[in-house]
Amino acid sequence: YNMKKYFPINRGLLNRNTTYVKAVDDISFKVMEGETLGLVGESGCGKSTLGRSILRLIEPTSGKVIFDGKDISTLSKSQMRTMRQDMQIIFQDPYASLNPRMTVGDFVGEPLDIFHIASGEEKFKRVILLLEKVGLDESCYNRYPHEFSGGQRQRIVIARALSLNPRFIVCDEPVSALDVSVRSQVLNLMQDLQKEFNLTYLFISHDLSVVKHISDRVAVMYLGRIVEITGKDELYKNAMHPYTKALLSAIKIPDPALRTKTPIVKGDIPSPTSPPNGCHFHPRCPQAQKVCSEIKPELAEVTNEHFVACHLYNESAIIH
Ligand code: SF4
Ligand code: MG
Repeated sequence: YNMKKYFPINRGLLNRNTTYVKAVDDISFKVMEGETLGLVGESGCGKSTLGRSILRLIEPTSGKVIFDGKDISTLSKSQMRTMRQDMQIIFQDPYASLNPRMTVGDFVGEPLDIFHIASGEEKFKRVILLLEKVGLDESCYNRYPHEFSGGQRQRIVIARALSLNPRFIVCDEPVSALDVSVRSQVLNLMQDLQKEFNLTYLFISHDLSVVKHISDRVAVMYLGRIVEITGKDELYKNAMHPYTKALLSAIKIPDPALRTKTPIVKGDIPSPTSPPNGCHFHPRCPQAQKVCSEIKPELAEVTNEHFVACHLYNESAIIH
């Protein structure tokens, strides 16, 4: 709730002129138990920062995270450590997450050691079971990460993330670094695991086509703010925010390689250190009105469970 993460940028020797990058600017949303909430936006919009702030891997500037009715933003470091068993994160680059000098078995089982959950034979059995759950087997146990393909490495990372029986996993672009051919395999695996272990996912991606299959609801983020959030089907059928519409037309480009090179909307993303006034999107928005450069549109429920932050859907704003 009201999550904010501002990064100070020091200018010069005197600290007086500190400005802040509002990477996450007053965002509130809920993730329901057992669901996948897709979080989509161009790179640099603050998605990863938001994901890390929720888990307090970085400390939010202000705001609350309520998990299971508990405000985890006020927990001490050691209380948070216990909490982390329930909350895991999977990053984009599986190789960077892996320790190249650790065998797969040691890597997957390490959290069991750290939290004194299992050791020896018991730990070995658990790790084998985890490897099997992600489509690998015992033969991987004593091998090293470099012996595996990108897709297999991400499976290893997932096995480790599952080792503590988490309930909530932030998935930060988990398939973006993988070959297109293995992406859907890993996505399918993640969906199967979600059902089996009743996991809740916050699934971060820069590509609306990636979250389409896996999400129940989708939130679209632009320059630190959520501009639209609704059910998956509703979003892909009845997108309302001009930025979401632009993102949707961008995914019609069939070649994903070309897609990332083609700008989604005319104009560059403005610098997050000095975002435009009013609606952050107004310099790039084809439907911008006068009010858009003056007043920040609030996220409001336009139709049932469909929230949009855009003056076009607020008649009183347009008249002024
Ligand atoms: Fe475009 Fe205005 Fe809506 Fe922003 S508020 S998306 S500028 S129409
Ligand atoms: Mg990122």
